[in-house]
Amino acid sequence: MTPTVLPTYNRAPLSFDKGEGAWLVTEDGTRYLDLGAGIAVNALGHANPDLVAALTEQAGKLWHTSNLYQIPNQQKLADMLVANTFADTVFFTNSGTEAAELAIKMARKYWYEKGAPERIEIITFEGSFHGRSTGAIAAAGGDKMVKGFGPLMPGFIHLPWGDLDLVKGAVGPNTAAILLEPIIGEGGIKAWSDADLKAIRKLCDETGTLLIFDEVQCGMGRTGRLFAHEWAGVTPDIMMVAKGIGGGFPLGAVLATEDAASGMVAGTHGSTYGGNPLACAVGIKVMEIISDPDFLAEVNRKAALLRQRLEGLVATHPDVFKGIRGQGLMLGLECSKASNLDVVKAGYATHVLTVPAAENVIRLLPPLNITEEEIAEAIDRLDRAATKVENP
Ligand SMILES: *Cc1c(COP(=O)(O)O)cnc(C)c1O
Repeated sequence: MTPTVLPTYNRAPLSFDKGEGAWLVTEDGTRYLDLGAGIAVNALGHANPDLVAALTEQAGKLWHTSNLYQIPNQQKLADMLVANTFADTVFFTNSGTEAAELAIKMARKYWYEKGAPERIEIITFEGSFHGRSTGAIAAAGGDKMVKGFGPLMPGFIHLPWGDLDLVKGAVGPNTAAILLEPIIGEGGIKAWSDADLKAIRKLCDETGTLLIFDEVQCGMGRTGRLFAHEWAGVTPDIMMVAKGIGGGFPLGAVLATEDAASGMVAGTHGSTYGGNPLACAVGIKVMEIISDPDFLAEVNRKAALLRQRLEGLVATHPDVFKGIRGQGLMLGLECSKASNLDVVKAGYATHVLTVPAAENVIRLLPPLNITEEEIAEAIDRLDRAATKVENP
């Protein structure tokens, strides 16, 4: 019989009753150290008191009006994002997928309004993930996501990841945009080099191509800067944000320059819930905390510590682990002889939560405010999990 919840997820036999910072607690009081943070969503930990206060205060006043009216929280959050990024303007969504949809629409509308309606192609990369809508799966491609769902939205050119020459060769008279994750998340924690991102930005400038960054997973302080592309010293024209920006409350956004957004005039896009007072109340608090340079300095300090301790772990368990990928608190442990799924499962037994990714990698995406003691605890629990994998 089909379960009453549509079985599209392979769920672990775990459920939680409450959370406290980096910890998830089951009904019977067992505490799990959460190094997945809801896949980089609970950026400030579970039940963060500042976020709970922001949400409950707003909840007592007003939940929803409509984008037919001014929404002060939305305006304030947009102002904060614009003040802290390349962007001139922001549209709020409820998810990363919806951000992908708007990014695609915005790029095509841009060229339509510029009198070049043939420029509809968007160059994307194998192993990417942009969400599960028909547009987002067409953008990312890959059999696993698209098989059986055709016909797919046309206009996406899928290139192997990381090959700059292929990118140069693929940009032509019909190219609207290049869309990429500065650090690929689901696809196995793979970062474009700073030099490659610079070269892609230059190519876009020379050809007028719009550059779209998907920072749904790698953004919002995850890498130790507010957005991952800041490390490379380049900016996109359009950027997708979600996951961490709501700290666990559904919120996403598309940020854009005035020029890139110029086709999106009144009536061209909308959302009933996007940018609602509740989500934006939380988003404002998240932005206040994460955009603080002192907070980001702490993320970098903790990230260096975690990475150093993980190197020790990899050296101790060569049959299980063979290397570390990623940046900041977006790290991937490459598994060697072991399967990443077995390592994640062994972690359930030692009460530490990690997230599998492609290429036999396990992802560590802890809350950005994880403490030094919790990092030590994480290493201890991962060490015991690895020992379990070695001695099945
Ligand atoms: C999770 C994710 C998305 C999709 O976000 P949803 O909120 O699940 O719709 C898009 N892009 C990247 C890079 C992601 O990690």
